[in-house]
Amino acid sequence: MRRAVIVGMLLVAGSAPGIAQPYHLIPGQVPLDKGPDGNTVVLDAPKGLIVFDTGRHPEHAQAIIDYAKQRGRPIAAIVNSHWHLDHTTGNWDLRQVYPRIGIYASEALNGALGTFLADSKAGAEKRLADPKTSPAERDQILRGRSVLDHPDRIRPNRVIAKSGRMNIAGRTLDVHLARFAASEGDVWIYDPKSRTAIVGDLVVDIVPFMDTACAEGWRKALGEIARVPFQTLIPGHGPAMSRVEFAAWRMAFNNFVDCGHSSRPGKECVEGWSRDAAQFIDAAHKDYVKGAAGYYLQTRLRSPAEERQRYCRPLSPATWRKPAA
Ligand SMILES: [Zn+2]
Repeated sequence: MRRAVIVGMLLVAGSAPGIAQPYHLIPGQVPLDKGPDGNTVVLDAPKGLIVFDTGRHPEHAQAIIDYAKQRGRPIAAIVNSHWHLDHTTGNWDLRQVYPRIGIYASEALNGALGTFLADSKAGAEKRLADPKTSPAERDQILRGRSVLDHPDRIRPNRVIAKSGRMNIAGRTLDVHLARFAASEGDVWIYDPKSRTAIVGDLVVDIVPFMDTACAEGWRKALGEIARVPFQTLIPGHGPAMSRVEFAAWRMAFNNFVDCGHSSRPGKECVEGWSRDAAQFIDAAHKDYVKGAAGYYLQTRLRSPAEERQRYCRPLSPATWRKPAA
């Protein structure tokens, strides 16, 4: 009991002299008028800093670089939870400052480039041609297009093809690969020393971003996370969660998927999510969440079987390397 109290104090008293914080969180925002930034989590390693996800907007990437400079430590490695551009676009900003950086990620970007990302690029061209597109949106589209035109800028140079204990920048971490969940290959990590799970968009506080989701694979991944003895979980968007909070979020997710796959009225499913996940949804995002939940219900959970299963198998089978035996 006494030991538990002391460990708890260490975690909250991170800024006390001589006591290292287990991680540094650079929160991503989900603004209502432009694309979100994913959370960035920075870990210390013997060879430098490990940066988990790099955000979308230049200000977010700059905040990561500023933190490294302030610490006087180089960024040695990036781990990308998945290829969504709100988690990977900043890879290029960091690489320009630290050219030898190791980028650890699954190979799912390859399948996305010729499919989902090709479609969104076509949509972006249309928005660029529209004089009503705001300057801020134009900047965001151009930044996204620059990395899609040169995918090597954000692509991994250390491919994660299976789960296992890995040495990254001299630090041992449990690296997990969840196939066909929020994306075709979601990477999440568990640090046994601080009992912290960093899970990317397998958990998003306000609403699961299901644009490229396979609901069943995602449900399975949440089960795998639950089996790890974490004390703190950092989602892809939103503040850190306790085990109890994660369990509530997971139940809300499962209820939403079950409702989506039932014949109950769609309105019930959307209201069910808003109610089950109420503790994670702030007032400013209430309407946004209802709109997003309704959209994912129609596009991912209630679409014809073929479309519903689209992200439950490789987008481009030839692009996946066989994992080492
Ligand atoms: Zn995200």
